[in-house]
Amino acid sequence: MAYEEERELALTACRAMAAQGLGTGIGGHVSIRIPGKELYWTNRLSKTFEEMQLDDIVLLDFEGRSADPEVIVSPGIDFHHGIYKLRPDVNAIVHTHGFWITAQAALGREPRVLHNMATYFKGRTAIAPDDEIASIAPSLKDGDVAIIIPWHGSITLGKDIAEAAALHHTLDYVARLDVTAPADAPEMPEEHAEAVRVLLAKADYLNLTWGLLQRKAARAFDGTFTTPLVAP
Ligand SMILES: [Zn+2]
Repeated sequence: MAYEEERELALTACRAMAAQGLGTGIGGHVSIRIPGKELYWTNRLSKTFEEMQLDDIVLLDFEGRSADPEVIVSPGIDFHHGIYKLRPDVNAIVHTHGFWITAQAALGREPRVLHNMATYFKGRTAIAPDDEIASIAPSLKDGDVAIIIPWHGSITLGKDIAEAAALHHTLDYVARLDVTAPADAPEMPEEHAEAVRVLLAKADYLNLTWGLLQRKAARAFDGTFTTPLVAP
């Protein structure tokens, strides 16, 4: 089939989220846009990230339709092509109901900057009341890398799957810090946060993190199933 390279990457991202303990239930989805086409790969609804195989990664058009009538994807899939239409710079999307991400989303705000990595999300996170694109579109700004949906989960966006998956992993970490740190823990001052952003860009942190996530995905996969390396 055409576009196999992107399909393999989508499968790897599903397994990477599973290895990280972000795919224990039905309902998360990863997508990768096919460059220059109104098409994207995403995963079926019927399995967890832990169970995903190449056949479970299916091609949809920008109406959310598959050429195969047997394919069932999430009823919430429409925000993927909705975001691809709105944001030509976004080529990959990850959505999970990870435990700490969902706990942080329940607070209805972006994560506090209690660690260097939280600077990715400061001022670049939309809050949407639900996962309908009609709800996401009014709150999503150019440059936003995450969308928080209170009482549901979160979405991360990237110029490629390396960015979208690495940001999701990073959001999981900083969400856990936000939820568990004391309410009066001091946040990083803005001038410090600006210096950190410059440093992280120089260090190519997100691409290095994607490399790590791929190694974890390979380590956690036993040939049929991905067993989480990190307990949620
Ligand atoms: Zn969801």
